[in-house]
Amino acid sequence: MAFIYRGQMNHENVFDMSTQLSILQLMDMFPDDETAERWFVSKRWPDGVCCPHCQSKNVQEKTTHPRMPFRCRTCRKFFSVKSNCFMENSKIGYRAWALAIYLMISHVKGVSSLQLHKELGVAQETAWFMEHRIRNAWDADSIKFSGEVEVDECFIGGLERNKHANKRLRQGGGTAGKFVVVGVYDRDSRMVAAKVVEDTKSTTLQKFVTEHTTREAIVNTDEARAYWGLPRRRKVVDHQAKQYSIPETGATTNRIESFWAIIKRAYKGTYHWMSGKHLQRYVDEFVWRANNRELDAEDRMAQTVRDGVGKRLRYKDLIAEADKRLLCRA
Ligand SMILES: [Zn+2]
Repeated sequence: MAFIYRGQMNHENVFDMSTQLSILQLMDMFPDDETAERWFVSKRWPDGVCCPHCQSKNVQEKTTHPRMPFRCRTCRKFFSVKSNCFMENSKIGYRAWALAIYLMISHVKGVSSLQLHKELGVAQETAWFMEHRIRNAWDADSIKFSGEVEVDECFIGGLERNKHANKRLRQGGGTAGKFVVVGVYDRDSRMVAAKVVEDTKSTTLQKFVTEHTTREAIVNTDEARAYWGLPRRRKVVDHQAKQYSIPETGATTNRIESFWAIIKRAYKGTYHWMSGKHLQRYVDEFVWRANNRELDAEDRMAQTVRDGVGKRLRYKDLIAEADKRLLCRA
């Protein structure tokens, strides 16, 4: 059998985003808060304003209410385009929200709350909360793939000694203190799904794979024993033998590994620390950007608005049980 040996992984740019919007184009799109608000309204309700409480389209516009420009004639409630979505009760202006979304959809490695705080001129804690609200809007629906997929796991986290006692994982070896993320890349749709899991035990990883693939799927993995006995047709590459792809069978996990490479670069270069409590939301951020990379930039912004409907995230829920000191470093 002819194997391809490579000293260094050649990560294909499979997750590059299609088009970008320049800062100048963004300034033209959002010259002031009123224009930005109209943009949010047109993207959330392309077929006309609809009451977020009762879905009625019988809506009075331009009310005299200071923050709620719409009033539903059916249920009589006032609302704004921020009602019942990721921007619920936010005092941050529409232009700043548009800029935050723009920065997050534009940077493949994400934007830190420190950076956003500087760009928007808001407190870092506010920037941090805005980013988590957007990540929460990007919370992915569970997908089930039926074609040929690549499955792999990745370890995220810093040195054990730098962590709080309650954040330490009691594991040995090179993965001590790290969090495990398992992911699947579907070659047909070119989409990804990924989840933070407890450990790398066979039952844990196989549960993820069976939840995200149908019986017909063909699953590419590395040689890890955890995948032995997986109830799916399987192709294996032996990374320990420096085997990365087998041309005869098409066996490789290169693409899901490219996805991990983005998260790892972001962890080192952008976030430096991702709290275990919020790690799934960070993972959702990378999954969302990967799965929407073929949309053009304004469509990615509009998709964020649509995905954010009904996704309220309250500050007190976000910080509950969390260690704020550590979180603010993100
Ligand atoms: Zn209503």
